[in-house]
Amino acid sequence: MRSKIVAGNWKMNLNFDEGQKLTSEIVNMLKDEHVKDVTVVLNPPFVHLYPVKKLIGDAPNLFLGSQNCSDKASGAYTGEVSAGMLASFGAKFVILGHSERREYFKESNELLTAKTRQALDNGLTPIFCCGEPLEIRESGTHETYVKEQLTESLFGFSSDEISKIVIAYEPIWAIGTGRTASSDQAQDMHAALRNHLASKYGSNIAEGISILYGGSCNPSNAKEIFSKPDVDGGLIGGASLKSRDFVEIVKSF
Ligand code: PEP
Repeated sequence: MRSKIVAGNWKMNLNFDEGQKLTSEIVNMLKDEHVKDVTVVLNPPFVHLYPVKKLIGDAPNLFLGSQNCSDKASGAYTGEVSAGMLASFGAKFVILGHSERREYFKESNELLTAKTRQALDNGLTPIFCCGEPLEIRESGTHETYVKEQLTESLFGFSSDEISKIVIAYEPIWAIGTGRTASSDQAQDMHAALRNHLASKYGSNIAEGISILYGGSCNPSNAKEIFSKPDVDGGLIGGASLKSRDFVEIVKSF
């Protein structure tokens, strides 16, 4: 059975106290909920990671993730943070290839292969983001476009390695816009990506890979989106900054 995952992407939001408050609220709320079969991941900015890890403590099913890591292992790369550093204090996940990093920091498919390599070599689970801009969706070539992102960044990894990667499909036109993909649009793309993974790695491997949906997911639409057979959870931006909304989304399966 595939893991059900809800990951919160705080992006570059919240000061130290706000981050502590949000984490404590989520930890407390999740204690009272029966969501044991859902893996919940908090992905704050780097400066929050260690204090958030301390607050998570040994809460079951709640994990720490980063929003990025370096493509290098160590050395003279001022301002970078390595996957090994993140793993050394208990981070378990790392978001890679978010469209904001692709667009504003010019991260290429090739660079993302190197970052994924670093993550896997250090025992982190990459949450590998892919997704098309609006003009590609409107031209009808969105499946080809997104499949190519996976092929170019990930298809050099072994079956064992690909099994350790989580995919997040995030149509760019739905991120932070309030315009979510319909559950059918999400399902169609997720099924296409799973078939694409199966064409390279076989259906057994593809059936085991969690594919998350991201893009204006909120407590009102999560249940419908998560009900689709190839949607295994969500990568949540804006709504992950409000404890009640985030926990409601976790409870949407
Ligand atoms: C994201 O940034 O990964 C995201 C899905 O953002 P939002 O939920 O705000 O659209």
